[in-house]
Amino acid sequence: MEAMVFFSMSRAEWVLILFAILWLALATSQRPTPPPVSSLAETSQIPASEKENTPKPTVLPRMPESPPHYVFIILIEGLRPDALQEAQTPVIRSLWQNGTYTWTAQTTPLSLTLPAVTSLLTGLTVEHHGVDWNTWDPDRGLVRARTLFDLVHAAGLSTALFVGKKELAHLNKPTGVDYFEVAGDEDHQIMQKAIAYLELHKPQLVFIHLPSVDEVGHATHWMSKQQLQAVEKADAEIGHFLEFLDQAGIKDQSLILLTSDHGGHGKLHGSADPRDRTIPWILWGVGVQKNHEITASVYIWDSAPTILHALGLTNAISTMDGKPVREAFVSSP
Ligand SMILES: [Zn+2]
Repeated sequence: MEAMVFFSMSRAEWVLILFAILWLALATSQRPTPPPVSSLAETSQIPASEKENTPKPTVLPRMPESPPHYVFIILIEGLRPDALQEAQTPVIRSLWQNGTYTWTAQTTPLSLTLPAVTSLLTGLTVEHHGVDWNTWDPDRGLVRARTLFDLVHAAGLSTALFVGKKELAHLNKPTGVDYFEVAGDEDHQIMQKAIAYLELHKPQLVFIHLPSVDEVGHATHWMSKQQLQAVEKADAEIGHFLEFLDQAGIKDQSLILLTSDHGGHGKLHGSADPRDRTIPWILWGVGVQKNHEITASVYIWDSAPTILHALGLTNAISTMDGKPVREAFVSSP
């Protein structure tokens, strides 16, 4: 009898049955509405059933609300902290008074530019990054250790370096550097070229090396009247840089690390003498405590982990010798 019913159905009835089957299939397979993105982020690690039973932690891990969009490392070569006291440096003063600072940071015991800057940018001691020479030597190749630039570039940020000495080209690794320029041999030239590039391209991690204070130190002696004048000129260059940040409208999205690679005494540096090894270390900008003198010991190899911490790119920090200078930040636990 049933077969008889089927056979007797009209074409319109067949179409109706097909629609009914399709509707049923759709209704039973309908997926629940996904939660909004924000609640996904909160719950992605914890299944809903467990979350209800998990007590709310009293201290939340630090997660920067808005990490800096731009990070600038300005390195005044050969700058002793006591030179900042003796010279008139109103711009640098405004940075440390509105930022976090120490006058007792230590560079590498081998107090020379390339080993020290490599420690700054890798978070490693000289023993671990292996760069113990201070000349441009193509046969030695590029720095092998992973740098801050490699890590930040892998996270999608654009990068640039402006330097005054050819040996720093050992840090010009294609894995981390979008733009590298030996931009002159004197502070004003280098800063002008850096600002011209920044205006056009707005790279997000930038290293600017100012070599003149070191050069005048070698030509006269460390802490000479001429060298203190060079410090004042470097201060004015940093003033131009801050004006640029202001005009470009990015000052309030920026983090600046102002430091040095070594000091000096007599007409030389390179030893572990405290006058060679002690450097200023000033952090200013997004998320940074104002007018805070750091109580912890700071080493030049703490610089890269501190910047990664500020950016929230913390995965590689545990592989470094340096540690983030946590007390520099407002919301550290
Ligand atoms: Zn030097």
